[in-house]
Amino acid sequence: MEPPFDINDIADFAYVTKRKLKDKNGDMRGEVFLWRRKGEAEFNYKLKCPYCEVEQESSIILERRPYRVRCSNCDMSIMIEKLSKK
Ligand SMILES: [Zn+2]
Repeated sequence: MEPPFDINDIADFAYVTKRKLKDKNGDMRGEVFLWRRKGEAEFNYKLKCPYCEVEQESSIILERRPYRVRCSNCDMSIMIEKLSKK
């Protein structure tokens, strides 16, 4: 999946993340980009659902962690986990 924005503009973002997403068997079938521009309340996301593999883009207000988005196709709730430390 291609990034939905020009990464050169990173200074304009208050929050940017990219995660691989596991399906219920632990296979990395999905991916999500989640970002919020400075001065905006809504997060935007581009998602490839790990359960149904449908790609979609939307925006959402996220107030508390862990952040979750819902697939508009299969209605699964998808948690965007914190990056694990290595
Ligand atoms: Zn889905």
